[in-house]
Amino acid sequence: MTSRVVLATHNEHKVHELQEILGGAELDVEILSMAAFPEVGEIPETAVTFAGNAGLKADHVARRTDLPALADDSGLSVDVLGGSPGIFSARWSGLHGGADLPREEKDRRNLQLLLDQLADVPDEHRRAAFRCAAVLALPDGTTVTSEGEVPGLLVRAPVGENGFGYDPIFVPDGGTRTLAEYSDAEKNAISHRGRAFRALAEQLPRYLTD
Ligand code: IMP
Repeated sequence: MTSRVVLATHNEHKVHELQEILGGAELDVEILSMAAFPEVGEIPETAVTFAGNAGLKADHVARRTDLPALADDSGLSVDVLGGSPGIFSARWSGLHGGADLPREEKDRRNLQLLLDQLADVPDEHRRAAFRCAAVLALPDGTTVTSEGEVPGLLVRAPVGENGFGYDPIFVPDGGTRTLAEYSDAEKNAISHRGRAFRALAEQLPRYLTD
């Protein structure tokens, strides 16, 4: 029988990416999104690490839906900023009354603030990495965590239309294009989220029983 798993995110881009990544792992699982559980509401992110926040989200959703839940927490860590924005990547430009803005507009403001902060930083010092922690939580409180990262360089102006967040200014090591110029499949093959979830997917069969 097919197991059911809930993806504990409201970010439709992430749902799409995770469905592609988990689809590639050929697991016999039905993947549900949070759209099927409107009663669960916003998920608290009060921890101070990617793994901590992913664990909070997965555990919250697993307990409320009584189903295994997968969550990630991810962000961009910039070397010259000591690892920031890090866990604050999604709200780097602050809310400033903009909490209700569409995600694309928040992403654009976050990206622009980061570019402004790095305006005087020479090319060779614009190193950064996308990082992701992926967590599977079971309704009984069991959690399994896996992490992934992709290192690269930040360019000076956004390029490309795909992806989300800081993708238009991030060129992965070994590449010549920003992640926003990658197709979904190309991005998933190398991304922090792809790496973290593929590693987690290998362990899923052990934890998913019907
Ligand atoms: P989360 O939804 O709390 O994990 O926050 C993730 C934030 O980090 C997003 O809002 C983006 O700003 C950034 N981020 C995470 N993963 C990516 C990615 O794959 N591309 C671009 N930005 C990302």
